[in-house]
Amino acid sequence: MTALDEIPVTTLKGVGMALAATLGRLGIESIQDLLFHLPHRYEDRTRVIPMGSLRIGDTGVVEGEVVRTDLVMGRRRSLQVTLRDESGFLVMRFFHFNATQKNQLSQGARVRCYGEVRPGRAGYEFYHPEYQVNPGPMPAAAEATLTPVYPLTEGVQQPRVRSLCQQALGYLKRYPIRDWLPAAMLADYQLPGISDAVALVHAPPADAPVHLLMEGRHPAQQRLVMEELLAHQLSLLQVREQIRTREALPLLPRGDLPARFLAALHFDLTGAQARVLREIRQDLSQPLPMLRLVQGDVGSGKTVVAALAALQAISAGAQAALMAPTEILAEQHYTNFRQWLEPLGIELAWLSGKVKGKARTATLERVAAGEAVMVVGTHALFQNDVQFDRLALIIVDEQHRFGVHQRLALREKGAHGRLAPHQLIMTATPIPRTLAMSAYADLDTSLIDELPPGRKPIETIVLPDSRRDDIVNRVSDACQAGRQAYWVCTLIEESEALQCQAAEVTADELKSRLPELAIGLVHGRLKAADKARVMGQFKDGELDLLVATTVIEVGVDVPDASLIIIENPERLGLAQLHQLRGRVGRGDAESFCVLMYHPPLSRNGKARLQVLRDSQDGFIIAEKDLEIRGPGEVLGTRQTGLMQFRLAEFERDKGWIETVRGLAPAMLGDKKAVAALIRRWLGERTRYGEV
Ligand code: ADP
Ligand code: MG
Repeated sequence: MTALDEIPVTTLKGVGMALAATLGRLGIESIQDLLFHLPHRYEDRTRVIPMGSLRIGDTGVVEGEVVRTDLVMGRRRSLQVTLRDESGFLVMRFFHFNATQKNQLSQGARVRCYGEVRPGRAGYEFYHPEYQVNPGPMPAAAEATLTPVYPLTEGVQQPRVRSLCQQALGYLKRYPIRDWLPAAMLADYQLPGISDAVALVHAPPADAPVHLLMEGRHPAQQRLVMEELLAHQLSLLQVREQIRTREALPLLPRGDLPARFLAALHFDLTGAQARVLREIRQDLSQPLPMLRLVQGDVGSGKTVVAALAALQAISAGAQAALMAPTEILAEQHYTNFRQWLEPLGIELAWLSGKVKGKARTATLERVAAGEAVMVVGTHALFQNDVQFDRLALIIVDEQHRFGVHQRLALREKGAHGRLAPHQLIMTATPIPRTLAMSAYADLDTSLIDELPPGRKPIETIVLPDSRRDDIVNRVSDACQAGRQAYWVCTLIEESEALQCQAAEVTADELKSRLPELAIGLVHGRLKAADKARVMGQFKDGELDLLVATTVIEVGVDVPDASLIIIENPERLGLAQLHQLRGRVGRGDAESFCVLMYHPPLSRNGKARLQVLRDSQDGFIIAEKDLEIRGPGEVLGTRQTGLMQFRLAEFERDKGWIETVRGLAPAMLGDKKAVAALIRRWLGERTRYGEV
């Protein structure tokens, strides 16, 4: 029997080559694909809403009598039609209109229209609503249905997609969609079968509960959401399984390197560091590749743990590599690792995009020959020409800054035949549990949930930029009293050039206003050597104040710095602000963070900064950030693609994430179902190809 996924969309009436190509861009080739092109919301045109009850942003149908019609001149000529019903008034405004329309919409006419409420010059307005003059009666409640709204691509209009989907529904009756979920599972969660669910969401019947559909909580929608989340989970587990079929070099702890390293540190590991280290040691001594994510709040001391993991690899006779997302951070790790490891007789290598020519060739040779056993760098580490001799451990710091595909590419690096390297991934941003479950289902996780002793809370102050002068004076006083400070300029992250420019201007301004201070500047466009020099000067206390862009966001560790001013914090995510703030409070001095915002702040904006003022727990902050800005922001923009679901919404559907995580492993055995579900929801691209 033919299946729906074998019937091309061109079978439908009105789908020629051109439209087929356009649909192809939406990933729609078969009728089944079209049926899985699901409405992402509905318009409720089933009932007339009293004008008096409308609020800004509402959409809906209103009906009333035209009380006046004005031609309004001004910047843009418009036709302003005032409607009235028993409860209030509403204005329809048209910027494009003809004489017929104007005559139709004259005083006394009865009009029904559908639109979205906006605040306009004449009160609440609908711009260019769809409307009917002297409308017939509304469909009886028993026949009224919601209107589906579909995601579009350029070249297809909403009505077109609607009608194609309705045509496709006709096929569904003859060729039901294969349901890959076991009947028992559906029964357990009281979910409808796939064909019924798909039919319902495309054409909700009149008696379906409107509010559930509007909110995406109808069982038919939830069935699809659940299946989508399951497909994502399965694809991650599948990647994990593939990796697990590989073997790894067991790195048995031997020799006294770790002990000598610990003896040279001027502190003891915290309980949490020691526990996480035990988990890592255990993994590393297995003949299976470790895939472990270490989460720990800013300043919890992840670097030392990474160094000890590297020592285990090195003492087992293998090579270890550490990759960091920015030049500054990588450089800093290199400096630390050199200080720690060189005294132990370990040879290191440094690789970044800026290492070129002879120096690069020489470094590559030392790495390939296995002379350099600890290699530190940026993603330049994993370019094609970098060959390792016996790489057995890869450490990725602040992983959320890397795209997921880089993580996957890394796994392939250093793989010899069946042997794959162990991987340790460290995140700077604590990731809320539910999010971690869906984004990192392929990893085991460890948590450093304790800060080193003696840390004092950072006092966070929220001030408008009208207080800039006071703040500048305060910085001067603090620095003259022996403190070191950061001044962070933020601009829209996309524009690095503008961000650097703003930092330059600010640095110049502060230099001229505070001649008594030694002021340095770092931003992303400086040469690596210059950056390193300035960071070195700041670390050595030669600079009082460091003006910087958000390049210092992650990892930068200057324990004596105890004051940080962040300009325009309202532009950044909470997790990012928390990271920035974490640049201070790393030593034993009392620390301060000033969030200098540009008024006016929206209510939401104010609430966000308050979260930061009131909490220093990265997990709480990340949860809030997730609620306010969504998963893409929490994981870092690079990974936004990772969390783009078609139907599922993180906040609304997080209950399913937990459920699906429980169900997925049992389904993995059914290879056909797994492949079909992944194909259905993630398309041909694998989960990793898309980012
Ligand atoms: P993060 O987890 O943010 O990467 P780091 O590894 O940079 O944190 O550590 C932050 C600071 O705390 C560093 O200066 C580090 O030397 C110090 N540190 C790490 N572990 C301890 C500890 N157990 N006791 C005291 N200080 C520590
Ligand atoms: Mg770090």
